[in-house]
Amino acid sequence: MSGKRGKALTFIYKPLGWFPVIIINAIAVWSYFAYVVILCFDSVEDPIERAIYLIFYHPFFLMFMISYWKAILTSPGYVPSKFYLTSEDTEKYESAENPQDVVNDIAKDLPIVTFAVNKSTRFCEPCHMIKPDRSHHCSMCQRCVLKMDHHCPWVNNCVGWGNYKYFVLFLFYSILYTMYITFTTLKYFIKFWGGNHMDTRSSLHILFLFFVAAMFSVSLWSLFGFHCFLTLNNRSTLESFRGPTFQHGPDKNGFNLGKMNNVKQVFGNSKWKWILPVFTTLGNGVVYRTATSLEPIESNGLLQGNHYDYDDDSASEKDTLLEHEQASPIYDARTTTASAFINDDTVLTLSDSEGEDVMFDLTNTVDQGNQLLTVPLNNSRGNSGDELT
Ligand code: ZN
Ligand code: ZN
Repeated sequence: MSGKRGKALTFIYKPLGWFPVIIINAIAVWSYFAYVVILCFDSVEDPIERAIYLIFYHPFFLMFMISYWKAILTSPGYVPSKFYLTSEDTEKYESAENPQDVVNDIAKDLPIVTFAVNKSTRFCEPCHMIKPDRSHHCSMCQRCVLKMDHHCPWVNNCVGWGNYKYFVLFLFYSILYTMYITFTTLKYFIKFWGGNHMDTRSSLHILFLFFVAAMFSVSLWSLFGFHCFLTLNNRSTLESFRGPTFQHGPDKNGFNLGKMNNVKQVFGNSKWKWILPVFTTLGNGVVYRTATSLEPIESNGLLQGNHYDYDDDSASEKDTLLEHEQASPIYDARTTTASAFINDDTVLTLSDSEGEDVMFDLTNTVDQGNQLLTVPLNNSRGNSGDELT
């Protein structure tokens, strides 16, 4: 497709992309009117029943709308500039006999543990960029997206690392919202079905409200169930079709850290925030812990692993483990000696072979990538400043 034609299509497609969003919002606004005005005020005669319906209805409606709009407006996460070819790299790439060799060479300095099926570095031709683990190119967005799950027309946005929690919450609250409407309108639906008590306008609204809510609540369960399965197993939708390829081969469970850790990776360490539409997803979307990084690793005498208990579904005592997950894959790839504990947002602690803690500042990890462990905060052996990676 020529560039001009592509741009013209984008120009047409972009506004059209909002059409499903407008439909969902129109249904949501109508459902509010039908429930609050037609059902509660026009049809429910008992004031206590009306008050109870309204008091419980509004939190469901608000949470549904907030998580929906968060999924729409939050960036799924895009690839940092260090993964793009520089102009110098591009020159090399374009003049090379085997451009893949150039890409493979550049990728050596990047925190990557997955490959294309043929074990070459994953490269995005349209973006001119080396793909970080779990990222994929979205042909609708025309760019690569971190931990891409799928492009969702209902939110007119890619669903990826940055907004996956909101997307799952959107499904969750959609089900709660529609189930609540289904159960509370059932009595009035039956009344109307018998042909009593209601004028035609109210009856039609309540009839449709019941049918639409029941239809959505039933149909969303399978999608929500599928995403619960994906979250528990640490897979994206794309990875559920084709597992990422690691050094040891394709492996759908390559990022599976145990159910509790998998859930925490998406929903965060604080359990009470799991159901709130606030950003609590762990890591930076670029680098991920791998299942193999949690396996016991033999010490080579330099640093001994403070390794994590992999088979752990009740990891509450290690609530802070997964903060800044960018640490361990780099560590594993280069030293194969240790996994890491993260104390808070900025400090990584490793135990050395004598069992002493060495702490590192992680403040600039997102921007500086492969220089992750360059700033020891304390170092008992006095080699502060040495680059360990
Ligand atoms: Zn791309
Ligand atoms: Zn997309």
